[in-house]
Amino acid sequence: MNLLPLQQGIIYGPLKSRRLGRSLGINLLSTAFKLCSLNCSYCQYGWTKELTNSAKKYRGYLPSVTDVTQPLAQALRFHKELDYITLSGNGEPTLHPDFPEIIDAIFEIKEKLMPNIGIAVLSNSTTCWRAKIRQALRRIELPIMKLDVGNQVSFKKMNHGPAPVTFDKIFDGLKSLSDIAIQTMFVRGKVDNSTDQEVRSWINRLEEINPLWVQIYSLDRGTASDQLERVEPARLQEIANIAKEMTGLLIEVY
Ligand code: SF4
Repeated sequence: MNLLPLQQGIIYGPLKSRRLGRSLGINLLSTAFKLCSLNCSYCQYGWTKELTNSAKKYRGYLPSVTDVTQPLAQALRFHKELDYITLSGNGEPTLHPDFPEIIDAIFEIKEKLMPNIGIAVLSNSTTCWRAKIRQALRRIELPIMKLDVGNQVSFKKMNHGPAPVTFDKIFDGLKSLSDIAIQTMFVRGKVDNSTDQEVRSWINRLEEINPLWVQIYSLDRGTASDQLERVEPARLQEIANIAKEMTGLLIEVY
């Protein structure tokens, strides 16, 4: 399986997916490199070379508010059938220093041109302890937040959170949000978060976060580490069933 090439623009798609229907993608990051606050073993873009939890020094590589809003307005005039505008792209979108302002601007354009569609963000959850990011996420119809494991030891192995980014900080941030979806990648091999013990620790955290929806999945592309394996659909379904029974949450396998 091959790694995914970086997005080469600010607006991409629309892409069709089971989770989001027809979704127009927005990449708030550089087209030259992945910029992220995690270095996940399973990242489909490969290892993170620009690893940071503050993107201020990369500002010159990132689009401005108008760099985003102008092509977005054009795209919304052109693509008439959309379900979501989704912020994702080449790393962690909430690292953009103007993330709250960009959300406000996207919201304004969307209300003017296509009020019936939603805004989604795919985030790795490392910034949701910041008040400004939480406020921005609360304006979004569907924040989809990453939580792959239930403890710091596994978080280090799976997501390689750099020193200031800890599992507890992420967990506290997630607990303070409501109306979110959680997305979880399960893998086996050098790192394995699909064992009974790991799944139990993850379920305990889910219960406290109490999301609206939990999306679980496994690999379908190349990964940064070449020592990972896909978790079979039958085991994913088993994990979903156990988690549903223990928490009563909506859990879906993708
Ligand atoms: S958070 Fe996403 S983009 Fe960042 S390293 Fe992990 S999988 Fe890759």
